[in-house]
Amino acid sequence: ALSLRDISKRFGSVTAAADVNLDVEPGEFISLLGPSGSGKTTTLNMIAGFEEPSGGRIMINEKDITDIPIHRRNIGMVFQGYALFPHMTVEKNVEYPLKQHGFDKAERKRATDEALSKVSLEKYRARMPAQLSGGQQQRVALARAIAYRPPLLLMDEPLSALDKALREGLQTEIRRIHRDLGTTVVYVTHDQDEAMALSDRIVVFNEGRIQQIGTPNELYKNPSNEFVSQFLGESI
Ligand code: ATP
Repeated sequence: ALSLRDISKRFGSVTAAADVNLDVEPGEFISLLGPSGSGKTTTLNMIAGFEEPSGGRIMINEKDITDIPIHRRNIGMVFQGYALFPHMTVEKNVEYPLKQHGFDKAERKRATDEALSKVSLEKYRARMPAQLSGGQQQRVALARAIAYRPPLLLMDEPLSALDKALREGLQTEIRRIHRDLGTTVVYVTHDQDEAMALSDRIVVFNEGRIQQIGTPNELYKNPSNEFVSQFLGESI
């Protein structure tokens, strides 16, 4: 579904990503895992369209989207810096991208109801974001991202600000939503356990480069270099 071909990104003298090659299968849940500053967010931002690659091409279903603006990429996003609209109710937040995608009123209502029900927030639809807990706000962000059923969903550390119990609950929800919708997911995390629990495959980053791509089991059993074995070993 998604292919990154020789993607790189430089910020002045800093190389944030280099030689990034990745093929994500349709419906796959793939995590970008690595320490702070390893290039995970930069890579996700290039897929989303927030950052322009210094080199390389990004393809979705064989179509080159490298020069297509964000709002025309048809990608759902749950990003830290992509917060809820504070002046809109929960319902309006979820409905907003549906308006942008040209859904009519009846379709918007149906899709909003369905998305809110998937994250168990039907009763909170008239609330403002400030009247919700952090976990509930993340659920709204998730509902907003899945409401129009994007074929590709990008998530950048969506659970990192939550406490452990909430994190585990939402992990289960994210897994269920992925299974129900069949959406392709690219998920950024520095949390190895989270990546292991959620992913079909994991891409391990260090210093802007992919170190290894494999299933959780493959990485665990056959780390391809010292970095991967150390990084995975540390948090066991
Ligand atoms: P974290 O887990 O801390 O978010 P990350 O793996 O997502 O880290 P990136 O945010 O992609 O890492 O950063 C990769 C490198 O690029 C870092 O050295 C970072 O300082 C640098 N970098 C990222 N964005 C910019 C920017 N806008 N300007 C300059 N340097 C940047």
